[in-house]
Amino acid sequence: MTTFRSSRTSRRQQMQAVLFRGGRIEHCAMSAPEPEQGEALLYPRMSGICGTDFELLHGYQDFSGVPGHEFVADIVRAPDREDLEGQRAVADINCGCGDCTECLYRGQSHCPHRSVIGIRGRQGAFAEYLTVPVPNLHILPQDMPDRLAVFAEPLAAALRITQQVHITAKMRIAVLGDGKLGLLTAMALRHANPDILLLGRHRNKLELFERVGGKTLQIAPNGEGALPRKAEGIAYDLVVDATGNPEGIEQAVRMCRPMGTIVLKTTAQRSAPFPFAGLAVQEQRIIGSRCGDLDLALHYLQYGLVDPRPLIETVLPWTEISRGMEIAAERGSKKVLLDHLGKALNR
Ligand SMILES: [Zn+2]
Ligand SMILES: [Zn+2]
Repeated sequence: MTTFRSSRTSRRQQMQAVLFRGGRIEHCAMSAPEPEQGEALLYPRMSGICGTDFELLHGYQDFSGVPGHEFVADIVRAPDREDLEGQRAVADINCGCGDCTECLYRGQSHCPHRSVIGIRGRQGAFAEYLTVPVPNLHILPQDMPDRLAVFAEPLAAALRITQQVHITAKMRIAVLGDGKLGLLTAMALRHANPDILLLGRHRNKLELFERVGGKTLQIAPNGEGALPRKAEGIAYDLVVDATGNPEGIEQAVRMCRPMGTIVLKTTAQRSAPFPFAGLAVQEQRIIGSRCGDLDLALHYLQYGLVDPRPLIETVLPWTEISRGMEIAAERGSKKVLLDHLGKALNR
């Protein structure tokens, strides 16, 4: 770990960072952030490239800055909590104001004034340093490898569904989309319902779910012809749209039974026609779903309830993020991880 000691009054240390600006990926030197009161200074060890990063690069949230919201980091300095220094942590990405009704009564993830690490108003982990509010930190068990812990944020997002829908073993559940989030969702929900069907276009990804005993259906790569329809006698109690495409919601509505539930995980920037009429007639319920409980995700990872490591496509030095984004954008590509230590092969 790099030593980092400077006071607020001294000249700030420089650091290397990756910027998304105007649709371009730039490498630059900039001042390292200083932890405000109640914050900790972190040094990322490993980070992950996520679909949201592509959306940010192309204008989602009018983003311009340092991205990176899936990460494992060392706590370098925590002026208010020195006992945490030197520990490894993951972090909740939503940073609320702490004073509003949302923050006080329901938690900070829907604070209207919130910043979101690497997504909105707060620098992310594609840099040598970042600052995070101490209450957002989740200290890792000592024996948890970085490449497992780096999945805590997306796995928490997958597990969020278990906190929104009462899932029973007899429900018929379909997960649409075999991207990283779709796979993690299918793997995570399987503990509550062993019969989940994962639908996707990529044989290599569907196989990852089959390997842990899951059921899959490959959709024709060029159309919707192979999608199960209610007319064919299949109607699901719960359909999760994790396609990442705005068209996914229409497919999900069509596959869902009357009065069934659709969970929307897609946050695509582009919009598509929405089947309002069918939804009203069928009295279906749509639930938006975003970030989840990192402690729950860490529990799943620590006890092997979900092992996301087969989802890793490659691990690159973090400075090769442009190549990483290219690989991650390839059709059928799995998770691209960025190694910030240059030696994180076994941790
Ligand atoms: Zn993400
Ligand atoms: Zn607030």
